[in-house]
Amino acid sequence: MIKAFNRRQFLQTATQAGAGAMAVRYAALAGILSSASGPNLFAAETGKPAKLGGQPVRTTPFPAWPVIDEREDKAILDVLHSRKWFRGDGQVVNHFEDAYLQLTGAKHCVATANGTSAVIAALGSLDVGPGDEVIVPPYTFVATINAVFMHHALPVFVDTDPDTFQMDARKVEAAISDRTVAVLPAHVGGGVADLDTLVEICQRRKVALVEDACQAHLAEWRGRKVGTYGAMGCFSFQASKNLTSGEGGAVITNDDELAERLYSFQNNCRARKTASFNFTYRGTRGANLRLTEFQASLLLVQMTRLEEQSKTRDANAAYLTEQLRQIPGIIPAGQHEGCTRSSHHLYMFRYQKEQFAGLSRSKFLSALSAEGIPCSGGYSPLNTETFIQNNFKTRAFQRVYPPEVLAGWVERTRCPVNDQLCLEAVWFTQNMLLGPRSDMDEIVAAIKKIQTHAAELA
Ligand SMILES: *Cc1c(COP(=O)(O)O)cnc(C)c1O
Repeated sequence: MIKAFNRRQFLQTATQAGAGAMAVRYAALAGILSSASGPNLFAAETGKPAKLGGQPVRTTPFPAWPVIDEREDKAILDVLHSRKWFRGDGQVVNHFEDAYLQLTGAKHCVATANGTSAVIAALGSLDVGPGDEVIVPPYTFVATINAVFMHHALPVFVDTDPDTFQMDARKVEAAISDRTVAVLPAHVGGGVADLDTLVEICQRRKVALVEDACQAHLAEWRGRKVGTYGAMGCFSFQASKNLTSGEGGAVITNDDELAERLYSFQNNCRARKTASFNFTYRGTRGANLRLTEFQASLLLVQMTRLEEQSKTRDANAAYLTEQLRQIPGIIPAGQHEGCTRSSHHLYMFRYQKEQFAGLSRSKFLSALSAEGIPCSGGYSPLNTETFIQNNFKTRAFQRVYPPEVLAGWVERTRCPVNDQLCLEAVWFTQNMLLGPRSDMDEIVAAIKKIQTHAAELA
């Protein structure tokens, strides 16, 4: 079977190779791509790296994201013509919240404008404020930390478990002080932080557990959805996420009081409307962090594909891991034994250059991209970012935190394991797991090819 070129690729190939050479090249590519594991893929593995002028293993794009069809058109147009675009006028955000709590098994769901505001609202509903400490992972999207800073609280980092890329739950207790009010693990990549240990510590030490599950839609711990283990679980529906409306977010909780505090926090302190026209204020503070009816309408349609997409990712990720484990120097991220389902928001592995003739990670990433496999090096260590020290110099921080707390912070929050992980990690995005199994074979072939030619590429 010959994979069809789209017009842009056709033009690119034509300009690169010239029309005559292109025919030859096209035939060669068709051969390479014609079978997943036959002799042609072997040729792809052993041929000259694309970085050195050879044929790339892959020339077709991975599946586009998000997936849409005419149902999304209708979802948007229905809201448009209803003229009810704001959740206070319509019912669509309410319907989405109901559907999302069905999906997660939580008792309450409050939608928010995005995942960052979900975490801000969760911490706000606990009255996290200046002088408080919140325990966070360094291996996460920066929003986890920003949400803490938006409340003028102090993030205290604990190191990462290199096998799972998750917050190392065994190191959390030592980071708790008398100022600690919450532990905020992020379930990164779609895997799950060690919730058995985190729940136990938080209960015993009487601090709130808030799960940043922004990457972990449908992920489970011991058969139960993540986000339901902590006091609250926060989700994102930003464009890159496994469930998306471009921007969007939600917090789930089983606690009736927290649910009302969350609601008023995202609604400028206004409580849910009762029968009367007048509204009442509730809680302590808030902002407008509301989801729109348009976003909720999109999410309701996107949700109908979530389970099937997730099954495809599960199967492809399991197969890819089985293959990559056989390559020396490639160590796929593992899961804690309690993680019974991953969302595979990212496919993550560690790259050990010693097994690749000393080829640096950045050269590996560049060679792999040249083979038609998009990849990145993932997060940099957040605990050493300069914006944190800038924040410590602000009037508010200088006034609130004793000098010895700020002075001792760097030493207290060193994360050497994470520093090393950030040098070794390689990521693929979730949409790359949505195609056929042969896509996984091409990823593997590209990595093997680079390993074979590592010395020339170094
Ligand atoms: C995406 C993400 C967020 C923030 O979500 P937005 O919707 O982009 O605001 C927070 N935490 C983690 C771990 C994320 O991946």
